[in-house]
Amino acid sequence: MRKRLVAGNWKMNGSRESIESLLSSILAGVPANETEVLVLSPFPYLGQVAEQLKSSRIQWGAQNVSDQDAGAYTGEVSGAMLRDFQCSHVLVGHSERRALYADTDELVAAKFVAAQRHGITPVLCVGETQQEREQGETLAVVERQLMAVVNKAGIEALGSAVLAYEPVWAIGTGLTASPEQAQEVHSALRAKIAALDTQIAQSISILYGGSVKAASAPSLFSCEDIDGGLIGGASLDPAEFLAICSVAD
Ligand code: PEP
Repeated sequence: MRKRLVAGNWKMNGSRESIESLLSSILAGVPANETEVLVLSPFPYLGQVAEQLKSSRIQWGAQNVSDQDAGAYTGEVSGAMLRDFQCSHVLVGHSERRALYADTDELVAAKFVAAQRHGITPVLCVGETQQEREQGETLAVVERQLMAVVNKAGIEALGSAVLAYEPVWAIGTGLTASPEQAQEVHSALRAKIAALDTQIAQSISILYGGSVKAASAPSLFSCEDIDGGLIGGASLDPAEFLAICSVAD
């Protein structure tokens, strides 16, 4: 049985006050089911988040990590620093990082390795643009993004990672991939991994992300190869986020 996981990516949103209130609501309503719940906070709030969640079943992590461990890298945050704040997970390769901050496949792979070097589970995001989908390149793109990491880290590294399929055209747009579209990509990703290691292919959790809401979650999460969600906008609304956590079980 694969782990079910719902991760909330807050992106660059929140304040000390709003995060305190959001987490209080989530803590009050988090379902007592088997689904793992994770929040991905902006860096400055990690200490506060760690304090508020420390004796709860909710995990926390960050949205980015440096490929470097320490030194003259102004503005960067290392895996060791995230570990210091007990982060369990970190996003690598989110499409906003790839598109706006030039996170190449190679850099994403280096960040993935850096996270694992510090005992943090990377959540590797892959996904195609609208144009790539229209040109029939979806599977080639997500497989290229996946293999950049496998080629650097080794297939066994996927044994301690989470994969997230996030079509770029569905992130923050209100458009969601249909369950059939999402399942097709999830199953292709799992097959690609299975060609290298069947056991890891069976055990790795593959999340779907892209405008998931409480209303769209049930049909997506009932697909065979969808093991939960990476939730952006809806993770800032406690009622929506908790409803999504409930249906993921
Ligand atoms: C995301 O930021 O990873 C995401 C999926 O955002 P949204 O749910 O808002 O599309």
